[in-house]
Amino acid sequence: MLARNSDLKGAIHAITSLEEQWNKWYNYPIVFLNNEKWDKKFIDALSAISSGKAVFETIPESMWSWPKDSAGSDLMDRTRAQAAWEKMKANGIPYATKESYHHMCRFYSGFFQDHPAVAPYKYYWRIEPDVKFTCRIPYDPFRAMRRKNKIYGYTVALWEIGSACPSFFRAMADFKEAHRIRSTSLWTSIMEPSWAPLPIRKFFMSMSSLFHSRDRHGDSWNHCHFWSNFEIADFDFFRSDRYRELFRELDASGGFFMERWGDAPMHSLALALLADPRQVHYFEDIGYQHPPFQHCPSSNVGCDCDCSGKDLEELRGAQRQTDKRHSAETGTIWILDCV
Ligand code: GDP
Ligand code: MN
Repeated sequence: MLARNSDLKGAIHAITSLEEQWNKWYNYPIVFLNNEKWDKKFIDALSAISSGKAVFETIPESMWSWPKDSAGSDLMDRTRAQAAWEKMKANGIPYATKESYHHMCRFYSGFFQDHPAVAPYKYYWRIEPDVKFTCRIPYDPFRAMRRKNKIYGYTVALWEIGSACPSFFRAMADFKEAHRIRSTSLWTSIMEPSWAPLPIRKFFMSMSSLFHSRDRHGDSWNHCHFWSNFEIADFDFFRSDRYRELFRELDASGGFFMERWGDAPMHSLALALLADPRQVHYFEDIGYQHPPFQHCPSSNVGCDCDCSGKDLEELRGAQRQTDKRHSAETGTIWILDCV
């Protein structure tokens, strides 16, 4: 879990829920990371409720900063980046002007897998403050991943705000072409869905004319991504030479700061590009709330679920709403599963 000292209450909620629904039977260690020094209060409170070992570490500045060239000089003009943030803010993009949010996204995109505190581990489960696990999880997802040869697991997939990352898909596609990487079927499924009925295709096309950058062949991304605040994954994927190379090239382009490239699209498109789709697993049975969205397993897959919750509509069951989109205007809440 990456968190701030001020996330104390939310961190307690999330870990209490994780322990209650799962970890009290498994006692896995929990690593807490922060870009600042941890308060004793946070350490004491979270140690007390973790059934396994709890580790509290700080993130080195090299992993939480602006991109630099190999000589250590700044690659970016911060004034220009800040001007770009103001424009994004005027367009209603959340967090655009928050420098720490850009550092957070860049950390999860390029560095979390190399933090010394996680060096001993092959698999991880990302937890955030204020999330809730709404069903019992009576098995070990890490063992399930290993047994089924999976490298990435998700519970919610939804749409990124296109205007937060207008040049992201083009940057990805350029990498794909420069390195002559062959398409996987996951790559195809996250582009405009040629399989979809016409009204849905039209919807995607109208969205794409607004926000999409296209590759040189005119294809574009439908903005679908795995919602990475939940992920159970194999560190090896993110520690691979190819992934590192991809991050390095994207980072050097400045998009994590000039735009608001998030770690969710980064992880998702990297998987689409570099992974075998059969190695991606939908944890359909794991009930998960990260307000305002949740995934609530239908009764035949979830174990003892209680999906009620503050700030959430109860949407038990309804899983596939590919043609619906979260509407900021009406505040409608959907369970989204867009892949
Ligand atoms: P959202 O889910 O996109 O709204 O973003 P969050 O505010 O939940 O942030 C994502 C994750 O990064 C959470 O685990 C936060 O606790 C963590 N996080 C965000 N900003 C900071 C920061 O400045 N410092 C630290 N230590 N953690 C942060
Ligand atoms: Mn969050």
